[in-house]
Amino acid sequence: MKKIIGYIRKKEQESGKAICFNVTTNGTLLTQTILDFFKDENVNLCVSIDGPAYVHNLNRCYKNGQGSFEDVVRKIELAVTQLGTLQVNAVYGPDTIEFLVKTISFFTQIGIPVIHLNPNISSFWDENSYIKFQEIYMRIANHYIQCYQEGNEIAINLIDSKIIVMLKDGYQITDMCSMGETEWGFAPSGNIYPCERLIGEDNNSSLCLGNIHTSLDLKRRCSLLKHRGNRNEECETCLWQKFCMNWCGCTNYYLTGYTDLTGPMMCESEKGAILAAKHVLFSLKENELFLDHFMSYLHERRPYYP
Ligand code: SF4
Ligand code: SF4
Repeated sequence: MKKIIGYIRKKEQESGKAICFNVTTNGTLLTQTILDFFKDENVNLCVSIDGPAYVHNLNRCYKNGQGSFEDVVRKIELAVTQLGTLQVNAVYGPDTIEFLVKTISFFTQIGIPVIHLNPNISSFWDENSYIKFQEIYMRIANHYIQCYQEGNEIAINLIDSKIIVMLKDGYQITDMCSMGETEWGFAPSGNIYPCERLIGEDNNSSLCLGNIHTSLDLKRRCSLLKHRGNRNEECETCLWQKFCMNWCGCTNYYLTGYTDLTGPMMCESEKGAILAAKHVLFSLKENELFLDHFMSYLHERRPYYP
């Protein structure tokens, strides 16, 4: 990281363009020295933690099976002392989706109000599990509304990003998937992927676009670029299409095996997020703290942009 950031800082000076660094980590190996480095280089830190111990330890364990919760919380406390603030990333699957509101309350209790919630796209979501999205996202929306009504600012990507999209009257072309174009993923082996979420175990040759030590496979990249977007027939007439991320190539790939074909889990999750955001927007449109929260995105005062 030191080498890469040093190199990019040089480019930043040459180009005169400001560069923003974000690091997401499971936090277990954070040290005072690493945090000092992040502080000096103005790196935004996001720690992956799935919720309170009984949620987090279900899926985030060491090789010996022991849950990592206690270590992660200790490191979060250290990081908050050192950096002043950080963001958290909670991944949920069919086994933990029920706990999302409790997870959000837990984060605010430990002083982390900037929360990213992401469904585990590589989990198996059957009909019984994805059918819960709309109800649970609405519960999250109600919790979000309550926070603002009680004077507590909170940022949840699931809600904030959809509100921003609604205010913009839909995703713009520049918001959409740019995998293999401006977005790339690099594995420790040097293998190149179109998006970091497609690296996985670094063993999928059909998605690998070459290696930094050899070359970029232009033929494969061309074929991938042709398969960005969405080709589900049912989406063509859907009321929510302009607010829907049915074009996220990695999510589509994990759900259907095709980067441009989405599945019912994504459809339910997107509908749920759109309806939840709409509910928040209408409920809080006269809440000053909420309006100020969204103005801060406009003026880029915070390190978190959905
Ligand atoms: S595949 Fe999804 S996460 Fe990756 S660049 Fe495209 S929209 Fe973003
Ligand atoms: S909500 Fe479902 S049907 Fe509508 S555009 Fe999104 S994926 Fe397609």
